[in-house]
Amino acid sequence: MADFDTPELKEFPVIPLIHEGVMAHSKPFVAKEEFQEQLGFPGELVDNWEQVAIDKMGELTEKYRGFKVFLDSCVKCGACTDKCHYYLGTTDPKNMPVARQDLLRKVYRRNFTFAGKYFPKLVGAVDLTKEVLDDWYSYFHQCSQCRRCSVYCPYGIDTAEISMAAREIMDSVGVGQKYCNEIIGKVYKIGNNLGLPQPALADTLEGLEEDIEDETDVKVRLPLDEKGADVLVVTPSADFFAEPHVDGLIGYAKVFHEAGISWTLSSHASEAANFGMFIGSYENMRKVSLRIREAALDLGVKRIIMGECGHAWRVAYSFLNTLAGPFDFLDPNYPVPQHILEFTHDLIQRGALTLDKSANDDMRLTYHDSCNVARASRMGSKPGGQFTIPRDVIRASCNHFFDMPQDTIHDATYCCGGGGGLLTDDLMELRVKGALPRMEALKHVVEEHGVTHMAAICAICKSQFAKVMPYYGFTMDSIVSIHQLVSNAIVLGNKQ
Ligand code: SF4
Ligand code: SF4
Repeated sequence: MADFDTPELKEFPVIPLIHEGVMAHSKPFVAKEEFQEQLGFPGELVDNWEQVAIDKMGELTEKYRGFKVFLDSCVKCGACTDKCHYYLGTTDPKNMPVARQDLLRKVYRRNFTFAGKYFPKLVGAVDLTKEVLDDWYSYFHQCSQCRRCSVYCPYGIDTAEISMAAREIMDSVGVGQKYCNEIIGKVYKIGNNLGLPQPALADTLEGLEEDIEDETDVKVRLPLDEKGADVLVVTPSADFFAEPHVDGLIGYAKVFHEAGISWTLSSHASEAANFGMFIGSYENMRKVSLRIREAALDLGVKRIIMGECGHAWRVAYSFLNTLAGPFDFLDPNYPVPQHILEFTHDLIQRGALTLDKSANDDMRLTYHDSCNVARASRMGSKPGGQFTIPRDVIRASCNHFFDMPQDTIHDATYCCGGGGGLLTDDLMELRVKGALPRMEALKHVVEEHGVTHMAAICAICKSQFAKVMPYYGFTMDSIVSIHQLVSNAIVLGNKQ
C-alpha cells in the first residue's frame, strides 16, 4: 500500500530499541504563500527569520506561563520516554516526548537563560540554525498534541503545549503546514473544512431525510439555518457525508426527533473542528469560534450542542466561553456548550428514548477514548464523565461491549495516530506507525472477546482508523460512531 513497513502487532506491548533519525524524512507539505497570508502569517521564510523566531518565543513565554514553566522544569527523569505512540511505532528517539521538547528547549536555553547564554555547552544550549528549524518542522509535526506524556510526567509537563508553540513560531517566520492552514482558510471562506457551500449542504441534508424515511417510514428532519429552533448543533463537516460519520449525524437527528426538541444546523457554523488549536494560534482559534457565536445569535437559538469531534470538544469545553463569550443570550438552564453525548445520555437516563439493543447484535464492540476528550475536557457533572457517559450510551444501545486493556483507555488512552493536524496523506507513514499501540490493544479484545467493531466519538479518529486499520488486517468499516449505534437501536415513534 505504501513505501514503508507496517509494524508488527505484538502479543504484549514492547518498548522498542531506538533507531536514530529514522523519521527525519517525515514532514508535511509546506503551506503556499496565499494560504499563509490569509491567516495573517508571512507567505514564505522571512529574511531575518532567526530573530523573528526568537522574538516570538520570548513573546510566547510571557503570554503563556505554562509554556515557560514547561521549558524550565524538566528534570530528565525519563518517565515520559516510552509513553508516546509515535516513539513506540517509529522507534525514532526524537519522538520521545522529552527529546521532542528539547528541540525547542535547547534554543530557549541559549537565548533566555543565564547558563545557556554564557556556558551553552554545559547545558546543551544551541543557536537557532536552519538545521534546527528543519528538525522542528519534522518532529513538531510528529506530535499529535494528545497529552499522553503529560499524564506520566511527575511535573505535568505538556508536550502538546510546546508543539503548539513551536508551530506558532514556525508560522510566524513563514513556514506553516499546508494541511492545517489551507483548511482554516476554507472555514473563513465557506464555513467548513471541506469547503461545502450552503446549497450543497442543504441538498445533502435533504437526501439524508429521504434515506431515513425510506428506511423507517418516519419523517425525521435535518434542518438547516432554521431561525427560532431551540438548539444549534455544530458538528464536524465529515458528519455530512463520510462513512461512518454520517451514520452518527442520522443518529443525532433521530434523537432530536424522538425527544421532540427543535434543532438546526447552520451553514455559517457548519464546522465544529477548529484547527486554530493545532497550529497554536489563539487569534485563528478565536476567529473560527466566533462563527458559532454569530450563528447562534442570528438563528436565535437557546442552546448550543457539539457533535462527535474530539478536539472540537476540547476547544468548546475549555475555551469557547473565553474565545467567543459571553453566551448570556442562551438559556442558563443548560451548560454552554453541551456535548451531544451529554444530551443523549440525559434522555436515556430519564427514559425519554426507547432503545432496542438487539438491533446491534451483529456487532461486538469496544470503545476508543479520543485523547482530546479524555485528557483535555470533561462531560456531565461528575469527574470522569468523559469516560462513563460514552460507555453508558454504548451499553444502552448494544448487548456486547468489552473494554480494551486498562493501560490503553480512559486518561491512558493512545492517540489514533492522526490527531493534532496530522491527518494528511503526506504523513501516511507516521499515521500508520503511530496507530500501532491502539491496534495492539484492539487485537487483544478481538482475540479475547471476539470484538468486531470499535466505536469512537471523534471525526479525526474515525477517518484515521478507517484509513489505517487495513494496514493491520482490520477492515475499514470496523470503526463506528456512537450515535450510529444509537441510530440503529432507537425505536422511533415510541414516545409522545
Ligand atoms: S503530546 Fe502525545 S504525541 Fe505529543 S509527544 Fe506527548 S504523547 Fe507524543
Ligand atoms: S517525564 Fe517530565 S520531567 Fe521527566 S523527562 Fe519527561 S518531560 Fe522531563
